Amino acid sequence: VLKVVENLGVSYVRSNESYKTKLGAELRKLKFPYKALAEDDYEARRKDHISHFILRLAYCQSEDLRRWFLQQEMDLLRYRFNELTDSLRQKFLEHVNLSFEAISEDLKNELANELYMSTPGLSMTKVKEQMFYKVGLADAVDLFRARRVFIKDGFAYVPLKEIDAIVTNNYRAKLSKALALTARSLPSIQSDERLQPLLNHLSHSYIGPDYSVQKNTGKISLEQIDAFSMKSFPLCMRQLHKALRDNHHLRHGGRMQYGLFLKGIGLTLEQALEFWKKEFIRGKVDADKFDKGYAYSIRHSYGKEGRRTDYTPYSCMKIIMSNPPSQGDYHGCPFRHSDPELLKQKLQSYKIPPSGITQILELVKGMHYQLACQKYFELTHDVDDIGFSLNHPNQYFVESQRLLSGGRELKKELSSSGNSQQKCNSQESMNSNSTPTSSNTTADAELEGLEAYFTED
Ligand code: SF4
Repeated sequence: VLKVVENLGVSYVRSNESYKTKLGAELRKLKFPYKALAEDDYEARRKDHISHFILRLAYCQSEDLRRWFLQQEMDLLRYRFNELTDSLRQKFLEHVNLSFEAISEDLKNELANELYMSTPGLSMTKVKEQMFYKVGLADAVDLFRARRVFIKDGFAYVPLKEIDAIVTNNYRAKLSKALALTARSLPSIQSDERLQPLLNHLSHSYIGPDYSVQKNTGKISLEQIDAFSMKSFPLCMRQLHKALRDNHHLRHGGRMQYGLFLKGIGLTLEQALEFWKKEFIRGKVDADKFDKGYAYSIRHSYGKEGRRTDYTPYSCMKIIMSNPPSQGDYHGCPFRHSDPELLKQKLQSYKIPPSGITQILELVKGMHYQLACQKYFELTHDVDDIGFSLNHPNQYFVESQRLLSGGRELKKELSSSGNSQQKCNSQESMNSNSTPTSSNTTADAELEGLEAYFTED
């Protein structure tokens, strides 16, 4: 749900009607009980509260996570608050101890002239239509400082359209404090072995298709990879491919990220061995060293060695949230981990138009890395709206291929990934969230084993 809120908040102006219509439609699609208060649905509200508090635990763990969570919760609250009826809004304000009282029609008519003169942007007709709230000055400092409200006897008379800002600011302050407090009590919670894996993975869990079922296996040839890297690879993989071709080597973070991605797009084990070997022996690694030091780890990632786990390619969240690259590394997400100036230069060298680069950098500045990647997809594929929410580098590849081939070649994969994506988007709430997360947890634990095999740089 919060991901959808983020998506729409970036693509639309938050106050306009199309934003509200679209968000309403998306929340209904996800079966999010945003009208639970109006419908007096106790069970739905209970689930909503539980999921909110679990997310607090998961998202209090770093400054980045806290900021992201706060922003999306603010936007969601603003929307829900504005959807309430007048009486429910009043009930809500009382419930959260915000003693703002809607003024009576009589008082409003009496003060109509003053309200009209002191409230910029409201015509007399609007003054008559809008509800006004009597708010203590301490809660309306910003408004009276900006001379946007009528003041009388120590109270500001705030129109409904400004009340949501006071409510959300109040909520932001409370939630921010609560997240800081929760973060402080994390060590004791993390010692609980039932909660710890869930919390570690929830903030970057991925519940879409894992791209481990390679219906496409063996359908691509090694000769195609250079062309694919330019047309259909997301920036992270394009960067890794270029670094590999330039340096004939990748350090272990890069080999993991890129190797599993290539496996996901359809490289067989034999092809992977040939691909990496050919490139590495062009550099400082001879064939013997490759066979001894690197071939094992590639077979391992295909589930042919060790615990025989068939490893799955990394999702965007995993790439963005874990194992940041250090100097000499090329893995990670360029939208998250590159210096903005370097990112700009890279995009310029890939012939992205200046206006597109500005849009991408704006999204990056707002920490919307996957949306920046979606914009990159749109610009490199010349489409206005990609029509899907990007969560996985292999999804990027599949969608790109579908578009470039007119929807023919990868149809089968797409229909299955599409379904799973829907599954990912549908709010099956905590149950569906926790199942894949725990399976991710197992996979991650096993991956740690695999990483040990990649120690040689
Ligand atoms: Fe790669 Fe995802 Fe970052 Fe795009 S958003 S560059 S697919 S990690």
